[in-house]
Amino acid sequence: MKKSLLLLFLLSFFNLSAQNEPSSSNRILQNLQKLNTLGSVLYIAAHPDDENTRLLAYMANERHYRTAYLSLTRGDGGQNLIGTEQGDELGLIRTQELLAARKIDGAEQFFTRANDFGFSKNPEETFSIWGKEDILRDVVWTIRKFRPDIIITRFPTTGEGGHGHHTASAILAVEAFDAAADPKRFPEQLKYVQVWQPKRLFWNNFMPSRDAKTDLSGMLKLDAGTYNALLGESIGEIAAKSRSQHKSQGFGVKITRGEMLEFFTQLKGDPVKADLMEGIFSGWSRIANGGQITLAIQSLISGYDPFHPEATIPKLVEIHSMINKIDDAFWKEIKGRELEDILIQCAGVFADFTAADHAVSPGQVVPTTFSFIFRQANMVNLLSMKATGIVDSVKFKNIFKNKIYEEKVDLTIPADISSSNPYWLEKPHAAGVFVFNDVLLTGTPESKPTISSTVTFSINGIRITRNYPLIYKWVDPVKGELSRIVQVLPKVTAVFNAPVFTFTSTDSHTVIITLNGNGDSLNGELSLNLPEFIECRPKKLPVTLGKNKSQTYSFILSVSPTREVKPEMRTDVTVELKDLQTNKTQVLKSVERISYDHIPIQTRIKDASFVLVHTSMIRKGINLGYVVGAGDEVATCLINAGYTVTMLDEKYMKPELLKAFDAIIVGIRAFNANENMGTYMPSLLEYVKDGGTLIEQYNTKNWISNVKVQPGPYAFEISRDRVTDEKATMKILVADHPVFSFPNRITQADFDGWVQERGLYFPEKWDAAYTPLLECGDPGEPAKQGALLVADYGKGKFIYTGISFFRQLPAGVPGAYRLMANLIGLGKYDGK
Ligand SMILES: [Zn+2]
Repeated sequence: MKKSLLLLFLLSFFNLSAQNEPSSSNRILQNLQKLNTLGSVLYIAAHPDDENTRLLAYMANERHYRTAYLSLTRGDGGQNLIGTEQGDELGLIRTQELLAARKIDGAEQFFTRANDFGFSKNPEETFSIWGKEDILRDVVWTIRKFRPDIIITRFPTTGEGGHGHHTASAILAVEAFDAAADPKRFPEQLKYVQVWQPKRLFWNNFMPSRDAKTDLSGMLKLDAGTYNALLGESIGEIAAKSRSQHKSQGFGVKITRGEMLEFFTQLKGDPVKADLMEGIFSGWSRIANGGQITLAIQSLISGYDPFHPEATIPKLVEIHSMINKIDDAFWKEIKGRELEDILIQCAGVFADFTAADHAVSPGQVVPTTFSFIFRQANMVNLLSMKATGIVDSVKFKNIFKNKIYEEKVDLTIPADISSSNPYWLEKPHAAGVFVFNDVLLTGTPESKPTISSTVTFSINGIRITRNYPLIYKWVDPVKGELSRIVQVLPKVTAVFNAPVFTFTSTDSHTVIITLNGNGDSLNGELSLNLPEFIECRPKKLPVTLGKNKSQTYSFILSVSPTREVKPEMRTDVTVELKDLQTNKTQVLKSVERISYDHIPIQTRIKDASFVLVHTSMIRKGINLGYVVGAGDEVATCLINAGYTVTMLDEKYMKPELLKAFDAIIVGIRAFNANENMGTYMPSLLEYVKDGGTLIEQYNTKNWISNVKVQPGPYAFEISRDRVTDEKATMKILVADHPVFSFPNRITQADFDGWVQERGLYFPEKWDAAYTPLLECGDPGEPAKQGALLVADYGKGKFIYTGISFFRQLPAGVPGAYRLMANLIGLGKYDGK
């Protein structure tokens, strides 16, 4: 293989901004120990949070191995406990939570192209949606690229891991263990990587912690609870901090100190007696003539002066030339880079590249500042700096120790530059896999920054090149200095005032669109891409947008009385802008920003659009109250379907105020997330007793104890029952019940076109006062009757439903709107 090619893709494994991490003398010493270690461990499971952070932290910090976690998915399909992001956006959050966890435990992070499409009951179903061969290809690629000595799975192949994705991750690890070494498997990869045979495969057996009676004979044991004096922490402390980064899953955990036993069942490779890495050369002795490098690093460590790490620089330079002479290109690249990082740390080098704003757009001229300082060594020279948008590389004059060097540079952002977007989300994807063309991106956790500088400097004659992304820095009076990577955005972006608008033949809606200019001013014409039977007033709107200004425009939409309509349909409506200077028309994009304290700000750019639903839905009773749960878009969707919705808080919990509402809906997981449910519930039940209709959406079982009150007038028990097949048959149990006839006649067609699932956390037992109305089940499983329970209470109606309206309504599923309209109207049914 050509060296340049190897270099190119190995570098894609490294974090671009890692070189500015604080590096104490202790940390440098720890890194020197790592430099002297050449063993590698790859941990494989399915989701963010599956990984055993104790074992990762132990392998990376105590054994000093290159350690990595391959999560097959980005956790897109889970439930978000900290915000409303779902699907791809949730996957973005969880990707960053994994990276935040790895920053703490010292492991690297990889992914496959698999999408977490939601709960799956067995590996066969999982593989039928992912495409087994596609994901196996990515696992093999990661093994061939990372070259682990051993592989450890979190789950067994036999199903005890529960979730189908879990078992699938173990099956793929077993198959990839052999396939990675077989040149006939995925030979197209061999242009970039070599075949690789890991030595052993283990299952990190969790049964002993689940069941104290587990037979431990034949299991290997390891104490991962060691104390690391250089870091001043037990592995248990590092692991708990790492795991607690999974905040969107609510996985903050208790810190543990002292012995922590881990258990292993060997699945492949030659058997071991005492240690996973037994008999594997994990030092420089695995390289021809590597022994002298071991000795050189050992002698450097024994003479290391923590007050003067820069004093080791001359010896590091010698070791650098020894590493340069080894034949093994793979280790030469990795260890050469590690050694350069240690040089940077010993010399106290810091660099950054900043702009005055967090976003730029094509064609703009952007003033930037490049800063560089070395604080420890004496022989540092700054040689050159290049960046996107700089024609000539910047040449430097002399720089001096501990004096900050600044260079102001104007960047011209290329007119044809792509917008900043996560690489796996640039194209539409199917349920099973993300789509991207560049094979070298396989496995990488995130896109590279769109604009970065490439800086070359030398330390005692060793030339080092590093990339520093263009960042925007600001000071928050409470949090202090913060920074974010500068994003390239389109010149104009757009956002609609709601995700979905629902029309019956008589409805009209005002659709408001806000345009944000991210560059120079422009004149244009705005229009919506609508189905023919929707009338739009006006058809076009003139646009004058000032430089970096925002402006709001509105269109009134209604159903044409003359054109033929499709009774039940949904469509995505986009917006076009014709630029009157260039005469070019473009579909406008929207920018979604995801901002939480524990992860870097994430942005996603996609077509600005809303879902237009046309339905024959009839509404009975339109005045609704809504009690907030964990966060959902149901209320917004109902407002744009012709209902009036009032968000209810404590001051509404009085009979005379509640009785104004035709129905009251309780948001998802309200009994898990809204502490006020305990005090609201008596008033809400009183409202039902007096003739009201109360509709409660799903709650989960494990957290229900947060609120010490029954969720209904009669007892029911929530289970983990869910129906994940969005096409599963929905059998109507009580055909003449008004829920299926009033005011809308519900037929099987209303259950077509649903997304992701039918529902979740169905009750499994209930008081005889409830009537179950629907039966459904996943293929090959017994059908369940807990999806929709209805009971009379006093003069009113109580409804509990695990049906995932919170997914179906924002997705614009007409049948879900019609069914919801019937639940809302149930109290209006007069028996005729
Ligand atoms: Zn999992």
